[in-house]
Amino acid sequence: MTDLDKIIRPSLKQLQPYNSGLSMAAVQKLCGLAEVNRLASNENPFGPAPDVLEYIRKQQDHLHIYPSSEASDLRTGLAAYLDTDPDLLVFGNGSEELLSIIFRSVIEPGDRVITLYPSFPLHEDYAVLMGAGIERVGLRDDLTIDVDKLVAAASKPTKLLIFSHPVNPVGCWMSRDDLMKVLDTRHPDTLLVLDEAYFEFALNGNYCSGLDLLASGKGHWIVLRTFSKAWGLAGLRIGYGVCSSPDLAAALDLTKTPFNTNTLAQTAALLALGNEAHTKKSVAAIAKERDKMRTALMERDLRVAPTQANYVFFETDLPSVEVADALMRLGTLVKPWKQEGFDRFIRVTVGRQEENRLFLDHLDSIRVQNTHNGRRLKNTENASK
Ligand SMILES: *Cc1c(COP(=O)(O)O)cnc(C)c1O
Repeated sequence: MTDLDKIIRPSLKQLQPYNSGLSMAAVQKLCGLAEVNRLASNENPFGPAPDVLEYIRKQQDHLHIYPSSEASDLRTGLAAYLDTDPDLLVFGNGSEELLSIIFRSVIEPGDRVITLYPSFPLHEDYAVLMGAGIERVGLRDDLTIDVDKLVAAASKPTKLLIFSHPVNPVGCWMSRDDLMKVLDTRHPDTLLVLDEAYFEFALNGNYCSGLDLLASGKGHWIVLRTFSKAWGLAGLRIGYGVCSSPDLAAALDLTKTPFNTNTLAQTAALLALGNEAHTKKSVAAIAKERDKMRTALMERDLRVAPTQANYVFFETDLPSVEVADALMRLGTLVKPWKQEGFDRFIRVTVGRQEENRLFLDHLDSIRVQNTHNGRRLKNTENASK
């Protein structure tokens, strides 16, 4: 044991650094590119409403003052927007921080955590960090949620049942009936966390938000949402949770740092809510592009997951890291998935029309290169597996 091993908690050794990708500047330098096509982080390229930007430009005289610890104005405004009780809301420096707060508030070593697989890495990482045992519920062959398996897993005593919905990285989702089945059968002592980071994009199909069902239901639950994706405020870091009871919200608030969300983020989020039309417009444009992108990938004989989010998850015959690296050298950033069994999958964010076209051009040129080398990008023969 080195000296440091005596100090750092052993569970940290099991964690990999979060795969946040290279910075824009690093990619520009590495690849000698002036512009980078950012399709790796599920950001909204249209950004926030003009009033939000105008407000931020004017804040330079107020930065010496601490933010509201309770995010009071945003709390009042968001409660009205959601038609819920302000005491049920919790705020985080991104919903990522709320994930950390939730795990630190409820998990003790040896607790059982259930999640879907492939998963949003933090849902597993914080479980590992707190010493929990993780049970993964895999997808069906058609890359949709295996509701029967999820229901079976959730009916046993479990401290935490947590998954993103729509699912990151896959994009799949549950219908009202299926979600209801999971909610109804979950064990009464289980905390359910539905991470709805992408719910605004789920415009088509039969997606159902937990907030529409849980508010009238029993048990303990938290629905997490964020201003980072649809609302275009990823750089400011603000997300929120709606909790099943004021007591649960109060418990989470004991775990957070007192001034975890900053003034700019709180007010920008409130102003963004007041400009919902701006967000709806960009979300509608992205949803349309998403369906085009999915069709385009299927036309290339790739295996593509169904999606209601602002990304598309697809499989090639090559290791995802190789494909992502080749795309990066051409100027497009995507997220290569690395979890076991999914390391030939790429998650590509749906951007503006021209960004998506450029991605497809870059993908096609990799395909041509690989055909020359006797390798293929397509995976039709895997489509039935
Ligand atoms: C992006 C994302 C988050 C984190 O969002 P922030 O609010 O920016 O921290 C949380 N959960 C999922 C599933 C995400 O994809």
